[in-house]
This record gives sequence, C-alpha cells and structure tokens, in this order.
Amino acid sequence: MKSLTLKAPWGWAIIHAGKDIENRTWATRHRGTIWVHTGQGEDSSAFEAPAIKEALLRAPERTQGHWFLRGFVLGEVDVVDVHHAEECRKPDGSLCSPWAENDQYHWRLKNPRAFACPFPEVGKQGLWEAPVNR
Ligand SMILES: [Zn+2]
Repeated sequence: MKSLTLKAPWGWAIIHAGKDIENRTWATRHRGTIWVHTGQGEDSSAFEAPAIKEALLRAPERTQGHWFLRGFVLGEVDVVDVHHAEECRKPDGSLCSPWAENDQYHWRLKNPRAFACPFPEVGKQGLWEAPVNR
C-alpha cells in the first residue's frame, strides 16, 4: 500500500482533525488510497497551531491517545487531486483550505478512515510501499 510518513502531529491531523491538504515540496501522480504513517519526528511548532489544538479538543476520546503514537500507521485517506499553491490562490490571497500553505504542492485529501488498531511500521522518505499482508 502506498504510504506517506509525516512528522507528528500532522498525520494525526489528517486522520482525526479534518486536515484536508498535505503540503509538500513535490507533486505525485498517485491518486487513491494511501496509508498515513506518523514518523518518529515531531514538528514541535505545529503543536501550538490553533487548528491543531482545537482539533485535539474536538477529537473523540478513543482517538486522543493516537496523538502520542510514533512510528505507526494511523489510518488511510484518499488522494483526490494534486496542484500547486499558485493554481488555487484567490485574488484575496487565500488558498484552497485553511491547512494549505504558500509555495507548496497541495495534495487534496478526502475520506479519512481511522484504524481502530494502529500498527507499527518503519517509515521512509517519499511515497513508499508498505507491506499489506502482515
Ligand atoms: Zn490549493
């Protein structure tokens, strides 16, 4: 299964907080389901982002613990479109989503599905292939 490793807490935000754009410096032709893997690394400033804090408060209690996982596949989501910030910027400067960033490719994500039992996996760079049969 195609999989993407993200620093914490961004993977959690995709699966549990409605983060519908993944900002990347590179585009992909892949469309369809990917597994969302939270790596060992953390983006410490992201924990202070208002959208992340609000999402944690809104998250169902059973998934709040997934916040602390590192090195696990948390769930899956569908990649439905990829475009560059230059293509979606409106005249007022806003982008396609509150989660979207300037100067990045926007991977548009839909239908996040949380796994009831996240499982450990070793992450990799880029869009990597995780073994499906375990
Ligand atoms: Zn966009």
